[in-house]
Amino acid sequence: MTITGISSDLGRMVHPGDPDWDAARGTFNLLVDQRPEAIAFPADDREVAAVIAYARRRGLRVAAQATGHNPAPLGSLAGTLILNTSALTGVSIDADARRVRVGAATKWEKVTPRLSELGLAGLHGSSPDVGIVGYSLGGGIGWLARKYGMQSNAVTAIELVTAEGHLIRTDHAHEPDLFWALRGGGGNFGVVTAIEFAVHPVRELYSGAMFFPIERASEVLHTWTALLPALPEEITAWATILHFPPLPDVPELFRGRSFVIVMAAFLGSEADGCELLRPLRRLGPEMDTFAMQPPDALSELAMDPPDPLPYWTTTALLDELPSTAIEQVAQLAGPGSPLTMVQLRHMGGALARHEPGAGARATLPGQIVMFGLGVIPDESLRPAVLAGLDALSAAVAPHRVGDYPNFVEEPTDASAFFDTDTWNLLRRVKALYDPDDLFRGNHHIPPA
Ligand SMILES: Cc1cc2nc3c(=O)[nH]c(=O)nc-3n(C[C@H](O)[C@H](O)[C@H](O)COP(=O)(O)OP(=O)(O)OC[C@H]3O[C@@H](n4cnc5c(N)ncnc54)[C@H](O)[C@@H]3O)c2cc1C
Repeated sequence: MTITGISSDLGRMVHPGDPDWDAARGTFNLLVDQRPEAIAFPADDREVAAVIAYARRRGLRVAAQATGHNPAPLGSLAGTLILNTSALTGVSIDADARRVRVGAATKWEKVTPRLSELGLAGLHGSSPDVGIVGYSLGGGIGWLARKYGMQSNAVTAIELVTAEGHLIRTDHAHEPDLFWALRGGGGNFGVVTAIEFAVHPVRELYSGAMFFPIERASEVLHTWTALLPALPEEITAWATILHFPPLPDVPELFRGRSFVIVMAAFLGSEADGCELLRPLRRLGPEMDTFAMQPPDALSELAMDPPDPLPYWTTTALLDELPSTAIEQVAQLAGPGSPLTMVQLRHMGGALARHEPGAGARATLPGQIVMFGLGVIPDESLRPAVLAGLDALSAAVAPHRVGDYPNFVEEPTDASAFFDTDTWNLLRRVKALYDPDDLFRGNHHIPPA
């Protein structure tokens, strides 16, 4: 479909064949070859509404996108216009009220350091480069999730432009059904232009990482798993098997090396944190970076890649990781593995509690979320990486209790993310606000 007759109300719009087309359609995952009909870059609410009206007139669907950190679930973009929110910037922080308001383009890196200076922390995840809106609409699990829950339930207001082009503000008192659906139902209901959320008082915390040689993966994973049931909600500990690539921009200490790493954040004192992690430290890590730190230290703790890369992933929420599964994971991700990373995050605590006023993503099941990733720098490596990811999925399959949508990076049936009542209600809210199914969230919710 060719798009013509662009009015200046629409703001910047890029089309196939334009010189900046390839730059505009690029995402964080270099394997995703996005080919929408056009990409719009509206600069304000009015232009967002104009772009939506324009898409409707031409029979196009609209997919909102900020950073492109999870584009793969969208699948084919034929007949779809991407509405890129990158021009919708702006951050304001009310430290006394512990409230933050950000424009739809805002990444966590624009907020976390400023909050940290004020003795505050938001519920960001492992990468400062992720967009706050996409993260919040899908759930959002990070270092403080066991204590404070998911970011979607810290959201206090959302402003969005609807299919009819109305800018509306949703919160607990205004359009409460839509407010509920947005917090977990993703980008299926409109284009979010701004979001507001609560943050928490955190001056410093005990956090860091213990690095062990990868050959000790089984021993470390066994110790980590045995520790989990006794840990209070104030501590979140993740175990990661990581193969650092032999690239010049990787620090020399890590370049080309492989480790099993236990990272943790503890809302408490150094003495208590040391006590909680003692069984792991007793194993004798090769490097140990734990210290009392300001909350901003959590932004880089997981060492997520800052730049786009070609990769494929697998994930699962697990009720447990018994000994046989640990052995399989350690072997599949161990020395010589085609996988770049296997991460196991401790869940539970507030993630399992349904708080009053929660959104559609109220809780997540499972004690552990597994996330496996293989970088595919050239096509010849694809079969080995995909086979490695499949084997990892199969190894944990007996313990799988569901999926966490933000971590699912392939087209899938979104009904599997919700119980039947929640799914049916999401579809009814969709039918109310977007009966023609104009908006495509990356995980699709069709109208009832
Ligand atoms: C390196 C990396 C680290 C990550 N770490 C974590 C983590 O620790 N915890 C966690 O929970 N998740 C994590 N994620 C997953 C991340 O939360 C999701 O990929 C999230 O969807 C990214 O949002 P985005 O806006 O950055 O990406 P995009 O791909 O731009 O957006 C994803 C989806 O969000 C919706 N969306 C975005 N903006 C709007 C808008 N303005 N209006 C309506 N809908 C919108 C759309 O449905 C869109 O398809 C990570 C992902 C990566 C790649």
